[in-house]
Amino acid sequence: MVRLEEHKTETENKAIEKIPLPSRVYIPLSQHLGKICKPQVKIGDYVFTGQRIGSAQANVYAPVHASISGKITSIQDWPHPVLGRGKSIVIENDGQDKSQIPNPKSQIEIDNLTAEQIRNIVLEAGIVGMGGASFPTHIKLNPPKAVDTLLINGAECEPYLTGDYRLMIEKTEELLRGIELVARCLGIKQVYIAIEDNKPQAIKAFMVSGLAGQRVSGLTRTPVNPQTGTPLKVIVLRSQYPQGGEKQLIKNILNKEVPQGKLPFDIGVVVHNVATVFAVYEAVYLNKPLYERVVTVAGSCISNPKSLLARIGTPIKDLIDFCGPLKEELAKIIIGGPMMGIAQFSDKVPVIKSTTGILLFNKKEAIFNEELPCIRCGACVRECPVFLMPSLISLASQKGLWPQAKIYNASDCIECGLCSYVCPANIRLVQHIKRAKIEVVK
Ligand code: SF4
Ligand code: SF4
Repeated sequence: MVRLEEHKTETENKAIEKIPLPSRVYIPLSQHLGKICKPQVKIGDYVFTGQRIGSAQANVYAPVHASISGKITSIQDWPHPVLGRGKSIVIENDGQDKSQIPNPKSQIEIDNLTAEQIRNIVLEAGIVGMGGASFPTHIKLNPPKAVDTLLINGAECEPYLTGDYRLMIEKTEELLRGIELVARCLGIKQVYIAIEDNKPQAIKAFMVSGLAGQRVSGLTRTPVNPQTGTPLKVIVLRSQYPQGGEKQLIKNILNKEVPQGKLPFDIGVVVHNVATVFAVYEAVYLNKPLYERVVTVAGSCISNPKSLLARIGTPIKDLIDFCGPLKEELAKIIIGGPMMGIAQFSDKVPVIKSTTGILLFNKKEAIFNEELPCIRCGACVRECPVFLMPSLISLASQKGLWPQAKIYNASDCIECGLCSYVCPANIRLVQHIKRAKIEVVK
């Protein structure tokens, strides 16, 4: 693990701002792991904000919703921030933001919800892991084995990104309510929220907050639900990269290892990201599907970096313009963090459910040095947080030796990018390993 330059000061003390609604949104039918949705609307239809417009007949999927009101003008192939291109539903804004979302539920209604009802609401709201993983949340709320520990991931260890930090400061009570719902749904006995020590205001907010206005200043423990008494422990982690991977968090906080090829629920643990839990709160309390999210816009080229609340489907160009003007010639756009994010070929790509950040870099930062032969220094092996041998997997990948890559456990790579970062030979290890990961599961 390494300490990276954080670059968070540019945005961390700025409140989340709402970006004006775009004139058009492009809602991809694939924004999750699992079956791609099919359109449930046709060209010319009028849709309301929050209306379901895409769904699938499958277990593993998440429906998609209109993020503005207006007319469907096309259903077409469009740039996609993760897939390159993908089918998207285009909605022309009527400027009304009309919705048919029912009024918020009463506390009595919320208290009487069963675990199954909470899961159904989460499914209907189209919630997925919003830290970047995009795994449908309703599946994680229904693990095949009993779990007793819930970890809330507020680490946000990638440089530049501060959206989760702002949510933890600005929406602490709502997050506690979301955590309580998830804990109730899973029958959890102990909840931990993991926050890095570079987020002092978030740590303070959780240390002094409790449900029903309960304030327990100075304590690290507060019941997430005063009725059930499920304890919430705030864990302050030393800032380092990487930290936000599920298996690493479990190791750091619980000192437990998830065996190779297994998932956290196999050892009784479930991990959810802060933004996901906030979406659960909004879906259950406010009946609001996942049609907007917080996105950090930052990087050396942008003059007014900030975290924005943006509707899903908004072209990233709108967010860049809102935070502009550009200070320098733009050479590279990355969606996500600088370590795990994906470089984009177009600013037409829309914000999707997993978009944590948009980073804008100049020529000097975007430069790719020539790959040199491996000097067998072992730096990549030393730094790999999941104890792989990146140099060997990469070599196997470059030679197309997929069975060999499988023997080296390529699929356990969490794609943190640390091996590429430390490699003195500039070998794009993570790119080669990503390729191997795809091939070994075929
Ligand atoms: S092999 Fe994967 S997990 Fe290990 S350092 Fe490289 S990118 Fe990270
Ligand atoms: S860090 Fe680069 S040069 Fe060093 S062993 Fe790994 S691949 Fe080879």
